[in-house]
Amino acid sequence: MLTGDGAYIKKINRSYILTEIFEHYKISRANLSKIIGLNKATVSVQVNDLLDEELIYETQEEHNTVGRRPILLSINEKAAYFLGIDLDRDYILFNITDLKGDTVTYEKIDLQTDVYEEIVKLIAVQIKKYEKKYMDARYGLVHSMIAIHGTVSNDGNIHFIPRYQWHDKNILGDLEKLGVNNVSVENNANLSAYAEKIFNYHKSDNLLNINLSSGIGAGIIINGELHKGYHGHAGEMGHMIVYPKGKPCRCGNEGCWERYASEPIFFENANNQLETEIKTHSDIKRLLNEGNQEVMEELNKWIADLTIGLNNVINLYNPEMIVLNSPILKAYPHALEEIKKHLVSSVSHYRDIVISGLGAKAGVVGACAMGIQHFLDLPRLTLSETNNSINQ
Ligand SMILES: [Zn+2]
Repeated sequence: MLTGDGAYIKKINRSYILTEIFEHYKISRANLSKIIGLNKATVSVQVNDLLDEELIYETQEEHNTVGRRPILLSINEKAAYFLGIDLDRDYILFNITDLKGDTVTYEKIDLQTDVYEEIVKLIAVQIKKYEKKYMDARYGLVHSMIAIHGTVSNDGNIHFIPRYQWHDKNILGDLEKLGVNNVSVENNANLSAYAEKIFNYHKSDNLLNINLSSGIGAGIIINGELHKGYHGHAGEMGHMIVYPKGKPCRCGNEGCWERYASEPIFFENANNQLETEIKTHSDIKRLLNEGNQEVMEELNKWIADLTIGLNNVINLYNPEMIVLNSPILKAYPHALEEIKKHLVSSVSHYRDIVISGLGAKAGVVGACAMGIQHFLDLPRLTLSETNNSINQ
């Protein structure tokens, strides 16, 4: 039984009610009281507060049966907005979701510069633009979160981004000087793992999300929580050594996983072997559609190296779900079949392995979802991928 002061209990009950409304999408007061185990009067008082705050609204099921249709409660998606920013290699993605986690605005800006001050200025201008756009909503643009392809320092700023060679940048302070507040920074692979749980694999408390892009980075969820490690740098799996005395890596070691199984390596190897040049993921798709056997062989060789590392991380974590975020694997219909063929060890166990449907948007929608969870102070959050998949 919960004991404590009234305000605390009220806060806990409120977060339970909101959590259930998110999970059921539409739910009646009677069902809320049944599921949470609170009496109807208590639920009613809380619901009235949430209605006053415009965080939820009343609606009805649309059906044609005779009789009274119950009044249902749903999250008021237009009450608040959240911005996710992916600071990638040569471009920045800006994605805004409403309070239901559905994408309402998506913008990609190609970067013409890698100068820190100029990029910070660009981010500040964009945030201000969106603050203005959503200023009429009850809570406006609540929060912006920047997904970085690097490590976050203990004070929540940038510790290191290899692509830009930025060390210890006080980006939150620099944005504040430009008049922008309510921003935070998080590692992109962590946000991708979080997004897969919140949008797709709701019940999965042990999930590994592995991003195969210019390098290989992972987000790790253990017992429902993001595992960040002592310095916040956990998940640098791309630098696991898979070939002793192998190819030199930018990290100073030799034979790192990402020197064999990151996406640029596939293009590099394939273009050394094939007569036709492959530049994009669409090229891979087209050649596979044409029945090009050589491309398939190159893909299978690349996948063989990919599974060496996968086998190792499965043994380390015994994950329930493994989500692979990779446009190459997405383009190859036999990818999963081929991967599973190599994972034959009798001791390495996982429940399922899938290819991400969120793709390049995983980091930004994860950033928005994290904003929603913090804003409403929810113990858990359930959102739907429908409006956020890469095909949108
Ligand atoms: Zn390395």
